[in-house]
Amino acid sequence: MIEFLGNIQPIILLFMLVLMYSIENIFPYLEKPDRPAQHYKRNYGTSVISFVVNALMGAIVVMAIVTANHKQIGLLNLVNIPKYAKIIIGILLFDFGSYLTHNLQHRIPLLWRFHRVHHSDFHLNSSSSLRFHPVDVIVSQCIYQSLGAIVIGLPVSAFVIYGTIAIPLLIMQHSNVRLPQNVERVACLIFATPCWHKIHHSTEQPLTDSHYGDVFSLWDRLFGTWGYTKPHEIKYGLDEFKSNEQHQVWYLLKSPVKNNQRLLDDQRQE
Ligand SMILES: [Zn+2]
Repeated sequence: MIEFLGNIQPIILLFMLVLMYSIENIFPYLEKPDRPAQHYKRNYGTSVISFVVNALMGAIVVMAIVTANHKQIGLLNLVNIPKYAKIIIGILLFDFGSYLTHNLQHRIPLLWRFHRVHHSDFHLNSSSSLRFHPVDVIVSQCIYQSLGAIVIGLPVSAFVIYGTIAIPLLIMQHSNVRLPQNVERVACLIFATPCWHKIHHSTEQPLTDSHYGDVFSLWDRLFGTWGYTKPHEIKYGLDEFKSNEQHQVWYLLKSPVKNNQRLLDDQRQE
């Protein structure tokens, strides 16, 4: 079963991209960009290298997990609890580590330079879910996931189950869709639902620096990094990426080495 879930993850990704693309174009939640085709093209163009990096890094992460389990390294390998408990605790700890890493991607100026490519999108839709700078992918996927899995002693099955939940959720979170209100209200008590996550893409920094959770909203609730704002009340993107040219693929990829207004502001405040 676990092997099957691992094998179908690329199919889940493709299926969700097609499904969300269809829904957001037939029943868009919020206003579409002025030039939708250009927006999709640029986001998918930016994500091509990240996608390849992600696939290669995935193999490194799996190797790290298998090695850690083989050598019995990591917290969960030190305790004698049932396998299902290890899987549940492993998934929770892995998501908590992801929450912490995401915090660092916002707080450490060098990491933010790469992560802001994902935040610079002024219109969220299914293609925004893959708009990451390749270095940002290396930080979150390779460095965190490998180290996190080793420290936790994450079972392979927990990693596969986590990915099977996280992939469709990632696409839904960024798509221009919304869940029925009642479902959203209940689901966001546990999961980082589409409306919950969209707040993280606000142009207002206090909101950008909130709603960090990847799969669960629990960590944001626990550490107070969340607010009540609704997605239709906010503006997406980053003020430092105002012009249309700044959303071209090449500009986005080299933007980490360009001036960063938020960095300059931080330096001025020091
Ligand atoms: Zn972020």
